[in-house]
Amino acid sequence: MITRLKILYELQLVDDQLDELEELRGDLPHTVESLETKINDIKKNITEKEKEKKESLKKREENEEQVEKLQTNQKKFKAQLYQVRNNKEYDALTKEIDHTEDQIKKLDAENNALADLSKRLTDEIEEVRPQLNTLNEELKEKQADLKEIIKANEKEETKLKGHRKEIVDQTKKPDYAAYIRIRKAKKGKAVVTIRRSACSGCHNIVPSQRQLEIRRNNKLFFCEYCGRILVSPEIAEQSE
Ligand SMILES: [Zn+2]
Repeated sequence: MITRLKILYELQLVDDQLDELEELRGDLPHTVESLETKINDIKKNITEKEKEKKESLKKREENEEQVEKLQTNQKKFKAQLYQVRNNKEYDALTKEIDHTEDQIKKLDAENNALADLSKRLTDEIEEVRPQLNTLNEELKEKQADLKEIIKANEKEETKLKGHRKEIVDQTKKPDYAAYIRIRKAKKGKAVVTIRRSACSGCHNIVPSQRQLEIRRNNKLFFCEYCGRILVSPEIAEQSE
């Protein structure tokens, strides 16, 4: 049982050291992640606008072709005006000419609107581009900083992780499960000891009878206030 308790305390010590390394990274991992999200959102937005611009340009070209055809027809109709033989033919032809004129006007208006849209999209893209550049620069810097910190502690981290694995292999499965559950809930410490008659996790006094029981080192005890695993100061000393 003593070994079982010691193993749990050792596991906590290794995780404390790994947590310290993690803390050295500070907000950097989170900052890098949020910069990446921002950049991707802007890029996606630009891609969508570029696509819309392309579609608008294609539609404009189609419209222009259409207008050219209509204008050719219009010339033909107007030439035919000189060859009409009666009023009925004349009326039919002028009607055709008017109709063509309307179509051309409509297409021209549509193209003007599409040109305005393109211009607006271009402006909007140009507006966010500097922001994208700034964010990219910032991301590069933060990534470099993070890489440097990780690299500086790489050896220590690998060593600690190796050591942690050895300890985990020796830990009983239910003990490890309990350890992980408490560690998650308490965001860090899962195994604590008694210091000045108090739980070193939550600083609540451990009743003296309970302290005696814990000192026997023959059972797993949990702090009745914070739920952390409580080991005797002897176990803690021996593990350190
Ligand atoms: Zn406690």
